[in-house]
Amino acid sequence: MPNLDIHLFPCLSDNYGVLIHDADNNLTASIDAPEASAVKQALAEKGWTLTHILTTHYHADHTGGNMELKGETGCTIVGPRAEAERVPGIDIQLGDGDSYDFGGFTAKVFDTPGHTSGHITFWFPKANLCFAGDTLFTLGCGRVFEGDARMMWNSLSKIKALPPETIIYSGHEYTQSNAEFALTVEPGNAALQSRSEEIRELRAKGEPTVPTTLARELETNPFLRPDSPEIQANLGMEGREDWEIFGEVRQRKDNA
Ligand code: ZN
Ligand code: FE
Repeated sequence: MPNLDIHLFPCLSDNYGVLIHDADNNLTASIDAPEASAVKQALAEKGWTLTHILTTHYHADHTGGNMELKGETGCTIVGPRAEAERVPGIDIQLGDGDSYDFGGFTAKVFDTPGHTSGHITFWFPKANLCFAGDTLFTLGCGRVFEGDARMMWNSLSKIKALPPETIIYSGHEYTQSNAEFALTVEPGNAALQSRSEEIRELRAKGEPTVPTTLARELETNPFLRPDSPEIQANLGMEGREDWEIFGEVRQRKDNA
């Protein structure tokens, strides 16, 4: 079975860049483009030539490299229709339910608003990969800057519904602080306890905690667990709607 080669690299202060490469068709996409220099260095390391940028949302730490990279490579920039005017150099606009063919692989696009109002998520079913930008993080989720809790919960629910074995890449390394926070809302979660220990060790060695899998997030990420009786009890929100409990967890993290 053909597969996508993937290269993850840290950039800016706590962002991740990701390159995906379809060797059969000699295509390479940068998932977001936090800064041109780091993307170019990563491309050089792999010996790949940039053909696409797949943009999740307009924030500068995800699009800062767009124009320089496009100017130098002529790459095609694909991004969210709902905030297209804010994505530098955008060529192709996508939204909920759209598919985008990247060589031998098709990305399915979901609108996942909340962090920004037009944020999209790319899912490559054949490669079992999801690029969630700043919507879902390892043990966390994005801050809700341009939406409300109900909207963000609805977005996270779309990711939550993917196959559990889906491998999820996100835009930042925030996992250590996410783990510490998660333990304050669900301290009795044994899977979370052991995972926090693992994360501490990975970060102590300077290793990334991205990607993750949906299965692990469903077990340990408090933002995906409003149905946890322990979380509900700790928040004093037994039996409330999922989105309300999610909203309270998000607010506590914002204030942590
Ligand atoms: Zn962002
Ligand atoms: Fe970001």
